[in-house]
Amino acid sequence: MGLTVAWRLARSGYHVTVCDPTPGRGATWAAAGMIAPHAEVAPGERANFELQRQALTAWQLLNDEMFEVLERRIHIGVNGTMLAGWDASDRRLVDQFRHVATDFGVTSAVVRRESHPELFAGLSDRLSSGLLLDGDAWLDPDEAVGALLQGLTALGVDFLAARVEEIDADATHVRVHYDEGTLSAQAGILATGAAGLPRGATPTGQHAVRPVRGMTVRVDGIDRADAPMLRCLVRGRPFYMVSRPGGYCVIGASSEERSGPLIEVGELQRLLRDGLDVVPELETSSLIETRVGLRPASTNLEPFFEEWPERRWAWSSGHFRHGVTLAPLSSRAAVDFVRRVTS
Ligand SMILES: Cc1cc2nc3c(=O)[nH]c(=O)nc-3n(C[C@H](O)[C@H](O)[C@H](O)COP(=O)(O)OP(=O)(O)OC[C@H]3O[C@@H](n4cnc5c(N)ncnc54)[C@H](O)[C@@H]3O)c2cc1C
Repeated sequence: MGLTVAWRLARSGYHVTVCDPTPGRGATWAAAGMIAPHAEVAPGERANFELQRQALTAWQLLNDEMFEVLERRIHIGVNGTMLAGWDASDRRLVDQFRHVATDFGVTSAVVRRESHPELFAGLSDRLSSGLLLDGDAWLDPDEAVGALLQGLTALGVDFLAARVEEIDADATHVRVHYDEGTLSAQAGILATGAAGLPRGATPTGQHAVRPVRGMTVRVDGIDRADAPMLRCLVRGRPFYMVSRPGGYCVIGASSEERSGPLIEVGELQRLLRDGLDVVPELETSSLIETRVGLRPASTNLEPFFEEWPERRWAWSSGHFRHGVTLAPLSSRAAVDFVRRVTS
């Protein structure tokens, strides 16, 4: 969020400083990078769905802007999603999902192994049907963060590799206090994900964020980059695999109401067991790494942009499972805010 906010502001002509000890290494680092409004349909999340529906276009626009600065684009694969169920009860859940998706106006098609063997290549024989959802996409968050960092540098954005300990403000300026000094600016946006806010930040109480831990496992050796992204409900748990060209795959993701950035052995074992059941080929793929992040979940699971105009600060968070998806859209609010408080 912080990097796309910085991008929007810098492109609007503001001088921007990003204060972050480890930019791009929060939840974004663990994310699979799916922009999958159709597969993410959930009862009660219609507003969020309508927002996510605009996300792919917003990413493509941002990609065009990055091309103007960097003369290269990041890869955005629009492969769609195939959703399957492992056992009878999982298949019932897939069927229920289809009803909710249809209600949201999402078009889906039931596909069977006999008629579409290419979609089931490498998957367990037990999976004989799935639900195909067009239009879902993916990007590689590492590539997106790398391009943003490079683009921001080219746009003259400054980086301060420091943790913000405290903030304050007066009628004309905000101040950021970090261990070795203070930085002053005309306005500030807090985009700290699931982390606690710095001292001096005074939210209205309208919004709160709780961390929901998630883990992804990265493996090498299965190239399904031309196939739809795979999602499967396995014994009631969601499993997914996003394949990049060349055999790099992200499998995920656990979801635990915990704040410790650790990976529990049982959490990893459940994910790998589900993965090996669905994609037996994983048995011989090589393990690259595991990553863990804290999803910033708001009370109503929707993102928010909370403004404290009298203090010249705003707080952008609550992106929960969809922060990569929504970053280019959510960042637009920052420009309006900064324009208003600095005019
Ligand atoms: C396992 C997993 C899989 C996911 N998959 C997807 C996906 O496929 N698609 C999708 O759209 N979303 C996905 N998400 C969700 C997405 O990653 C988050 O919603 C998104 O990354 C949140 O972005 P953010 O910038 O708000 O927070 P973060 O990425 O956590 O960034 C917060 C930043 O703030 C910095 N910071 C915090 N406190 C301070 C401070 N006091 N001073 C200075 N800097 C500070 C941190 O260093 C960090 O860089 C996934 C999340 C997880 C955990």
